[in-house]
Amino acid sequence: MKFADYRISDEIKKSLDKLGFKKPTDIQFKAIPPIMKGEDVLAIAQTGTGKTAAFAIPVLDRLQFSKNRKREDGIKCVVMVPTRELALQITEVFNEIGRGTRVKTFCVFGGVEQGPQIAKLEDGIDVLVATPGRLFDLVSQGYIKLHRVEVLVLDEADHMLDLGFIHDIRQLITKLPRQRQTLFFSATIDEKIKDLAYSLVNKPVRIQI
Ligand code: AMP
Repeated sequence: MKFADYRISDEIKKSLDKLGFKKPTDIQFKAIPPIMKGEDVLAIAQTGTGKTAAFAIPVLDRLQFSKNRKREDGIKCVVMVPTRELALQITEVFNEIGRGTRVKTFCVFGGVEQGPQIAKLEDGIDVLVATPGRLFDLVSQGYIKLHRVEVLVLDEADHMLDLGFIHDIRQLITKLPRQRQTLFFSATIDEKIKDLAYSLVNKPVRIQI
């Protein structure tokens, strides 16, 4: 199966071609179809497997075509990540793959001033990539509203727990609509990760790479 055979937008196919992505990787092959159907996913996959595009492709495709979407409606997808580096990297992937779409992706993370991030948020963002601590701060101050979020992605969930983000994540979940799609990615799985995962996902498709 090639990307050319997928029912994704021509704009996205063009970007993938430009990036030299011809065929899906294993995780992409397994995750893209259920994500496109709107199902929740619980995936155990390491960095380097192509996991970022596995969620970026279907999320971008969905947002590009969501009907009657107005930018002022707010953030449609939140991607929670453990570190600033990963936030920047994922934002770049969304921007590269989403180049021909009108979808706007931006990231926020701690350790830097809030001001410039707040100013940028006012432009209207479709996809927000964020570390849980800074996201929690900005939500608490009312700069970010999460009530229009349709898709929640947790990437490197195990790493987020190791960094002590569990409290922020649990608080943030209470601000999200219950009716949403949740995509949960972790490199490893243990009881703590399972607890978190199963409190967030609903009848997930399980994928192990
Ligand atoms: P990730 O696991 O998301 O960090 O991706 C690992 C690397 O694989 C990145 O450098 C991507 O650019 C590359 N990659 C992702 N998907 C594909 C694909 N379908 N074909 C070729 N390279 C890919």
